Amino acid sequence: MKFIKPKNINNLYETLDNLDQQYLLAGGTDINVQIKNGTIRNPNIVYINHLTELNGIEEKNDLILIGSTTSFSEIINSRIIKKHLPLIHSSLQNFASPLLQTSATIGGNIANASPTADVIPILLVLDAKLMLGSKDNTREVFLKDFFTGYKKTVMKSNELITKIIISKNAESKYQTFYSKVGSRNSLTIAKVAVSSMKRVEHEKITDIKIAVGSLNEYPRRLYKVEEYIIGKSITDIDYEKVEEFLNMEITPISDLRSDKEYRYHVCVNLIRTFLNE
Ligand SMILES: Cc1cc2nc3c(=O)[nH]c(=O)nc-3n(C[C@H](O)[C@H](O)[C@H](O)COP(=O)(O)OP(=O)(O)OC[C@H]3O[C@@H](n4cnc5c(N)ncnc54)[C@H](O)[C@@H]3O)c2cc1C
Repeated sequence: MKFIKPKNINNLYETLDNLDQQYLLAGGTDINVQIKNGTIRNPNIVYINHLTELNGIEEKNDLILIGSTTSFSEIINSRIIKKHLPLIHSSLQNFASPLLQTSATIGGNIANASPTADVIPILLVLDAKLMLGSKDNTREVFLKDFFTGYKKTVMKSNELITKIIISKNAESKYQTFYSKVGSRNSLTIAKVAVSSMKRVEHEKITDIKIAVGSLNEYPRRLYKVEEYIIGKSITDIDYEKVEEFLNMEITPISDLRSDKEYRYHVCVNLIRTFLNE
């Protein structure tokens, strides 16, 4: 195993372009576990947490740009995030533990592509985009198009996530909701997570966005459920229909943490709770 610490961002891009197989090390809270348990063997480990170009939160016109190595504690404590994106501020309070929040990064949480990653359902309802950088190219990809399968993404081997891009107005006129259900409040991996935003005008739901975690091979939006709900008043929603569409969009599994029936019913109840709020 070889550790590489690039001098600057261009040196990082050169390094990624020249290596055959490599892993990035940001906060290390996922990758160090994988190295220790032997899932990752003999690769090149490229350290990125010291590169200032990848860190920090800034406002640019009507956008908020979050550098990929920004830690969860920096995000939770950010004045910009509290002001414009309170859903992110409030939802991440229960991410891991205060200690983990100081090292775990937002880019690492997304790139690790776990079905249980906390930040992904939150960013999905905010219609976030990712900026991917490499030696010769910078491109933007909607987060909803980033994952292609279990732990698989559209990222090329010489690319990395440089920034997360969110509209400053993403939450405006929306009521927001986030619930992560685990075995306890702190240091828990989600059995089910639901993030949602709805816009209600004259008792009608004129828009709704719902994203779930831990219910598929990667977190995703429930477009069929959303489509059924949009345009209806709360009293007109038929929950049997909601369950029918939900069944088409989630594939819960039974594992050590929970069984699939439990996951399914918790998800239905969380959606119902938010609709009736
Ligand atoms: C005790 C414990 C509790 C945890 N609790 C939670 C929890 O409550 N919720 C939750 O969601 N997760 C949790 N996790 C998982 C982990 O902390 C998060 O996924 C974290 O955000 C990963 O970020 P990192 O910077 O540590 O990533 P790293 O471990 O440095 O990297 C993770 C993966 O992402 C890749 N990567 C990192 N940065 C980039 C980038 N910019 N571009 C492309 N690829 C990149 C790496 O190559 C690696 O494959 C927990 C982990 C531990 C050990």
